[in-house]
Amino acid sequence: MSQQNAAESMATGTLAMPATPSAGVSAGTLHHGRGRGCVITRRALFSASHLYRLPELSDEENSRRFGRCSLAPGHGHNYELIVAMAGPLDADGMVLNLSDVKHAIRREVTDPLDFRFLNDCWPEFDLSRPEGRLPTTEAVLQAIWTRLAPHLPLVGLRLYEQPTLWADVIGNPMEAFLSIRTHFAAAHRLAREELSLSENEAIYGKCARPHGHGHNYLLDVTVRGTIDPRTGMVCDLDQLQGLVNELVVEPFDHTFLNKDVAHFASCVPTAENIALHIADLLSAPIAATGAALHKVRLQESPNNAAEVFAETPLLDTRPAVLEALAGA
Ligand SMILES: [Zn+2]
Ligand SMILES: [Zn+2]
Repeated sequence: MSQQNAAESMATGTLAMPATPSAGVSAGTLHHGRGRGCVITRRALFSASHLYRLPELSDEENSRRFGRCSLAPGHGHNYELIVAMAGPLDADGMVLNLSDVKHAIRREVTDPLDFRFLNDCWPEFDLSRPEGRLPTTEAVLQAIWTRLAPHLPLVGLRLYEQPTLWADVIGNPMEAFLSIRTHFAAAHRLAREELSLSENEAIYGKCARPHGHGHNYLLDVTVRGTIDPRTGMVCDLDQLQGLVNELVVEPFDHTFLNKDVAHFASCVPTAENIALHIADLLSAPIAATGAALHKVRLQESPNNAAEVFAETPLLDTRPAVLEALAGA
């Protein structure tokens, strides 16, 4: 490193290690990153069936509460599990040896669950016991957390039941995040009424063209709540899907947002403003179901998305772990 480079590095606080061992320092004593923290993720797949039927309820009541999930003898999913772990790097440049991680996940999770009927797999799902609960996505993930936590430095788990439904657990296994994905198609024009066309084009570019353009929006809604000790749910999934359909998808789908959705008559429908409005529409009705709206993510195109965290006090830590899981 030249003196000038060293001075620049000192000034910016980024004094770099030499890229190659310098004379007199053996390669074995240089451990790039040793001791520094890192989050790693590992993916695992399993297929399993389950049935939502509480023995204390009649057939009619089971059907009313759990819909087609209560149909005997059950139905199945191809589950995808993402395990996020954190720790300092060792001398080999790893948080953990991935082979150990793979074997722990196989021994504790995929061997006991793959190609099985989840209701029969673990005592948590034995509904003849008063403490037994339905093997919902979030309850299965909670049970996986309790089995992996003694063996791996977990910071987060995600379980996809399908690409449009997944659960996350971060730190507190009694609490889970449940996410659903849906979509709608809509047109919009980005322009502020008080500005001229050229002024609007200077701000919004092609998006300010007078007759608008459209997107196929992907909408992810994430709620947070405690897992019910009997139903295994953070909230009634049908009810959540019903609220998102009724309050967002139906009124927004196949519309010109500026003209057809009253809020956007006076508010420029950028992806950010649409996401914020969706969060405002959903917050109170979701709170009435017993869960809290945590996040709205609106993807406008493959290249841009807006995310609104409805629970601002949690902004400091949780989104970072959710992002690690999402990027896995
Ligand atoms: Zn199912
Ligand atoms: Zn647009």
